[in-house]
Amino acid sequence: MREFDLGMEFQDEFYSNINKPDNLFNDCTEWLGKINESGYGVLDRGQFAHRISFLIHNGRIPDGFEIDHLCRNKKCVNPHHLEAVSQTLNRQRRIYQRNPDNK
Ligand SMILES: [Zn+2]
Repeated sequence: MREFDLGMEFQDEFYSNINKPDNLFNDCTEWLGKINESGYGVLDRGQFAHRISFLIHNGRIPDGFEIDHLCRNKKCVNPHHLEAVSQTLNRQRRIYQRNPDNK
C-alpha cells in the first residue's frame, strides 16, 4: 500500500481528533487524541498523527525522510507547520536547538 493511501485510510480518524480543521494556517492545531510517551500525537493503531497529517496534505513522504515540526510543538498536526527533512538535517537541527551558540 502506498503511503498516500495510508494517509487517506486514516483521514476520518485524523479529522475527528483535531479542532478547527477549516482554519489550518497560522495557529498550531493540537492533536486531541492519544499522546505517546515521547509527547507526539498518535492514532489508535500507533501511527504518528503529524506524519498522517503530512501524508493527507502532501501525498507522500520521500523515502528516508522525517517530518519536522517547524513550530517545535510535538502535538501540532498543522500541515503548514510540518516539513519533510532528511534524517541528517533533522538531527543537525536538534543539536543546534539544544546548543544554539555551539557553531
Ligand atoms: Zn504548529
